[in-house]
This record gives sequence, structure tokens and C-alpha cells, in this order.
Amino acid sequence: MNETIAHWNSIVPRPVDVRPLSTGDSSVDGIQISEPITVSSDDGVLARDVAGMIAIALGESSVGVTDSATATVFVECENPEEPEDANAPQPESWQLECGVGSEQIEIRSTHRLGALRAAAALAQVLAVSSIEAYAPSLEQGGRRTIVLPRAVVSGDFAFSWRGGMLDCSRHMMSVGFIKRFIDLLALHRMNIFHWHLTDDQGWRLPSSAYPELERKAAWRDDNTTRYGHYGGIYSRDDIASVVEHATRRGVTVVPEIDIPGHVSAVLHAYPHFGCRGEELDVPVRHGIFEDVLCAGSNEVHTFLETVFDELCDLFPGPYIHLGGDECPSTRWSECPKCRARMDELGIHDPALLHGHLVESAVNAIRRRGRTPVGWDEVLEGGPPAGMLIMCWRDVAHARPAIESGYDVVICPTNRACYFDHKHRDDPDELGRLSVCTVEDTYGFDPGVLKSDGRNTGNGQGTVVGSQGNIWTEGIPCGKHAEYMAFPRMAALSEVLAGTARGAESLARDLERIRAHARRLRLLGVNAYDGPAI
Ligand SMILES: [Zn+2]
Repeated sequence: MNETIAHWNSIVPRPVDVRPLSTGDSSVDGIQISEPITVSSDDGVLARDVAGMIAIALGESSVGVTDSATATVFVECENPEEPEDANAPQPESWQLECGVGSEQIEIRSTHRLGALRAAAALAQVLAVSSIEAYAPSLEQGGRRTIVLPRAVVSGDFAFSWRGGMLDCSRHMMSVGFIKRFIDLLALHRMNIFHWHLTDDQGWRLPSSAYPELERKAAWRDDNTTRYGHYGGIYSRDDIASVVEHATRRGVTVVPEIDIPGHVSAVLHAYPHFGCRGEELDVPVRHGIFEDVLCAGSNEVHTFLETVFDELCDLFPGPYIHLGGDECPSTRWSECPKCRARMDELGIHDPALLHGHLVESAVNAIRRRGRTPVGWDEVLEGGPPAGMLIMCWRDVAHARPAIESGYDVVICPTNRACYFDHKHRDDPDELGRLSVCTVEDTYGFDPGVLKSDGRNTGNGQGTVVGSQGNIWTEGIPCGKHAEYMAFPRMAALSEVLAGTARGAESLARDLERIRAHARRLRLLGVNAYDGPAI
């Protein structure tokens, strides 16, 4: 009985509940599953997508769709369609019955997303068992047979925003890797892929209105390394295929154009969008740059309205991220056009021009019926109600946002959610100087600031979730990004599902993550496997 529970609890995040059906003593009652695994559902699209989720772990050739009554997996979903309103919340709770009254697996959910989350849970447990007795077993006539213990397993999520961010400006990740990253998020039942598409070091989006972005802002000349002339954009077809892939996995793509700072690449292509009008190189070095968008230029405001409108054309999802981080006001205080704009607006602090620029992006996003998202610096400009705030600095920055009525995503840089940091404090370890261990991520509790204000009507916002951020200044390729992401992303998925059991059970949770990291490596994921997990 306990082995059955342990078996199903080996998946990450852990299910909310496991009810074993066997009452036997030492021998665990299980069903035998042979490959190829077949999936059946009244909704053909859902059957295809459930099979696709299982294939992340087992490979395309081991999973298929069937109409047959002998299918390995039946999917019963009350509302299998995508909701017409992308903003409508879609419950993700799920239930999986393994060997209840039959030798098959039944997935039950009220909505499509729940069925996909159950499929992800099943994919993990099929991939490799944590218990030796169930290890991918029994070669029978060349077909692999897997034994799964009988149980009713159910899952749900404490937080609705469970994400991973990938910076594709500093290093441009391949479309193939981006889809794999989305697959690995989905395998951990995460639901947000935040795609950081522009920064000082490169612009990665097509634009009909501003063709110099593709011709100039997308490229940097790096003579300090082997990279040389480096860059490019994702084509419209690339973007459409990423969005379609994510949709099949039940993952929402949140694209980001970072303004009004971090725009050196834009100012290389369109120098007159800056206060000084000087053409800048697309930089090779990293950091915070003083040349930002000129707040006093009408052309800049038109640029913002246009590129965010174009972004809404490319991405159908409910959220559009406008950046807003790390934007010095030095140039604005020196610029005659910005000074004139301050007079028009009746403001005395140049820093408030930040909010004026953000407003143009917000207007474009709102016109398209989407929710704008910004890093926590946007709070200083008094953002519009309903904007989602992403707090990357200390968690303390989230509290005033919540109290002012904003919903927040908290992903603090200090030892929790920045997965470009080292896995452990070792000069030989990959990553930036800072350290974030799996234990640090487990110790992160986004719920500490969660308010029930919405229910009590006192005007407070709430914490909707968190995400792991992969900034790629020092991460040139997908394999390296995987190493940084895992298994910390898995630990974060558990925190966000609400199934991490707290300090008293940390040792047990870490042991499960160690076993899970082995599972990931068997799936070909380049997960970190050193000490400190
Ligand atoms: Zn200016």
C-alpha cells in the first residue's frame, strides 16, 4: 500500500491525493501496460494532445490514438474545447484512475487543461519508476511492458501562474529547443512560457512597420568571441508554430518586448528614438544602459503603439509583457524634448516619464483586449488598474503592489527563481556568481504574501504565482539552459502546485527531487546532478 503511494508520489509535482486500491500486504497490485500506448476520447483533438503529452516522455513511436475499446488510456472530459474567451479561467484539476474496474487508465477532468495535466502526470510515471520493482520492465516479444499500481490519483494547483521564462535576446535559442523547453514545462504541469524577445543585445521579432529592426536591431558584431556577426529574428512561421505547439501542451505563451529601457538594439536601428539621436552599436557587454527611448518624441509613442499592436497580431494569448525594468532617467533630464513633455504633463520628476512611455504600450495592449504585464519598476509610474505586476526584486516589492490592488507574479532574484545563478557555491560550477540551490527554491513560499482580498472585497490584489527565469547572458545554447533550469524548475513546479510539504518534510522532498533528476536524465534532459540537490 505504501509502495503504491510512494510510486505515484514520485512524480513532480506530487499529486494532491493518492488512494491505493490494493489492500494486499507486500505484493502491490498493478496493471500491465504494453507499448505502444493508445489513447481514446470522444474528442479526437484532445485524444491527440493527451497522446502528445505522453510522447514527451516515451517518444512519438510509443504512443498513438485509437477508437478501440481496448485503448490503454481513456479520456473523459466534460468541456474538451478551448474556451472562446482566452481570459476565462479554465480549471486544471484532474483525476486519474489506474486499474479501477478494468485493466486500463481513465483520465477524468471537467476541462481540457485538466486532461493535459493528468497526461503529464502519467507521462512521468510511465517514463521510469522510482521503485526498482516497477522499473521499465519485462521485455515481452520485443515490447516494453510497464507495471502501474492500481490507484485513484488526483491533482490540483495552488497557483494559477506557473511559468518559465527564457531570454532569447542575449542568446537566440532554436525553435526546436524552445518547443522542448515548453514540453519540459508541460511535463511539470506548468502553464506559462514567458518569451523574452527583445533586449539591449538583440531584437528577435519581425515588424512590417519597422523593417530596420530585422535588418539591424537583430544583429550584433561580437569580435571578442567566436560569435562574430550574431543574431536573427524568429519568423512569423516560427512564432506561429511555437504558439501552436504550446497550445497543444496547455501552455500559454506570454511574449515580452522590453521598453522603455534595455533598447540599445532599437536605438542602433532607429537612432532618433533616443534622446541624443546618436547611433549606438548593438552592445556585446551586459548591464544597464543610459540611452533609452525618448519620452518627448511623438514618433516613439507611435512606435510603441505599433510594435505592441503587431505583437498582439503574432500572439493570441491573454497576456502581453512590456518589460519596464532597469530604465535610468538620466537622458530624460538632459533632453529638451523630454523637458518640454514634462511641462505639458505637469510633472517635475523626469523618472515619471517612465509611466508616460509605459502608458502608450499599455494603451495598445488594452485596445486589443489583452492584459498588460510589467516588471515591478512600472509601479513607480502608477500603472493602470488591472495590470499584472511581475516582481523580480525583493519580495518586499510585491507587498505595496498587492495593497494597491494589483495581482502579482513573484519571481525574486535572491535565492529562489533566477535559474541563471549557480546550482551551488563553487567556483567551478556553471552560472553567475549568485547561488540558488534546489533547497532555496523549495524554501520559497509565494503564498506568504497571498491575500484573500479578492474574496473580502477590500481592493487588495493577490499573488497569482511565480516563474523560473533563465537569463542567457552566459547561456549560449539549449543544452546549457536545460542544465540551469533543472531540477530547480521541477522544485518550483512543486512549490506552485502547493504540494511541497514545508520545512519539516524538506529532506523527503529533496530525496524525491534527486530521484526525479535521474528520471529527467533518462529522458535525455541535461539536468544538474551535482551536490546540493
Ligand atoms: Zn528625450
